[in-house]
Amino acid sequence: MIASLYVHVPFCANICDYCDFYSTLNLNFIEPYLQRVQTDIQDQLHAYSIESIPTVFIGGGTPSILGPHGIERLLKSIPFEPDIEVTVEANPESLSYDFLSACHTNGVNRLSVGVQTLNERSLDAVHRIRTGDILKKLALVQTVFPDSFSVDLMSGLPFQTVESLCADINTVCSFNPAHISLYALTQETQPDNTDYADELYCVGQELLRQSYSQYEVSNFAKKGKRCMHNVRYWRMEPWLGVGPSASGTLIDDSTATGVRNSYKADIEAYIRGEAPLHEPLDYLTLMKETVLMGFRYIDGVDTQLFSRRFKLTLEQCIPSTLERWKPYMKDGALTSKGLLMLNRFLTEAFIELEQ
Ligand code: SF4
Repeated sequence: MIASLYVHVPFCANICDYCDFYSTLNLNFIEPYLQRVQTDIQDQLHAYSIESIPTVFIGGGTPSILGPHGIERLLKSIPFEPDIEVTVEANPESLSYDFLSACHTNGVNRLSVGVQTLNERSLDAVHRIRTGDILKKLALVQTVFPDSFSVDLMSGLPFQTVESLCADINTVCSFNPAHISLYALTQETQPDNTDYADELYCVGQELLRQSYSQYEVSNFAKKGKRCMHNVRYWRMEPWLGVGPSASGTLIDDSTATGVRNSYKADIEAYIRGEAPLHEPLDYLTLMKETVLMGFRYIDGVDTQLFSRRFKLTLEQCIPSTLERWKPYMKDGALTSKGLLMLNRFLTEAFIELEQ
């Protein structure tokens, strides 16, 4: 089997109010964590007979908190071929030239920086560390990963306006990132909320002016710079998950069923070697997830993969939904306008799938 690899690095310098990701402030666990990750990767590659890893994503948490030696050890424990996409996330406060250089030397070719906002009042309001030198850190990233870094921004933050968000985008774009992710702070600022839709539309226009195009609900990229690891998620192609709270999905295309392996969000349980929870994914569940993930993506569901996997075409599975949503679709996928109503679309598609 071919499967991507996600490694969750569950350490942070502080816990931001809005964060749903699992992390711990106890850095004493870094050493045993790195040892456990190494055996976990080997065990999973063996257990699922993984022949090759097309993409690697090291996220968190805050991977940059591992420092240059820690990230080097982590990267060396992953047997990946040169030239595959390897992404590491970093936060400005723990990002150094040595860290970037260790990433670069050990095969990383995509660096994702969690900026969130340049507005210090907003950072304080959500208890996120402010470093004061975010722009200097972006300049540093630009020198090491000139054509291949991404910036994470957030919308819906306290004290943030469309104007201030667009100003942040303008400043960030002066460093020429290849990719920008824009995440909404809360459920209330998700698609289908009118204010959010207006905001996202304005911001999308700004990004368009800067020559980024939207290729998923929250993601914008320059030409040829989409994150292929995430594209594989949206296509529901298999991946392994390593680290506390990480989950992986393995798929058997011959039966159109799968299994989701989810580790407990508990660093001590992970280090002790506690096994992940195995949740079977039956035919209908897998089909619903394939639709759910596929329609987030601007190219829509991979129809060839869908027919091969489920022995039915997408048109046979949700004909009425596709017919009703025609005005918001192009080439079998939702348009940018359609993506703003994604939740409604999915509700209708799921009702039809369950009939
Ligand atoms: S630094 Fe990132 S992962 Fe850590 S608590 Fe803040 S948002 Fe969450």
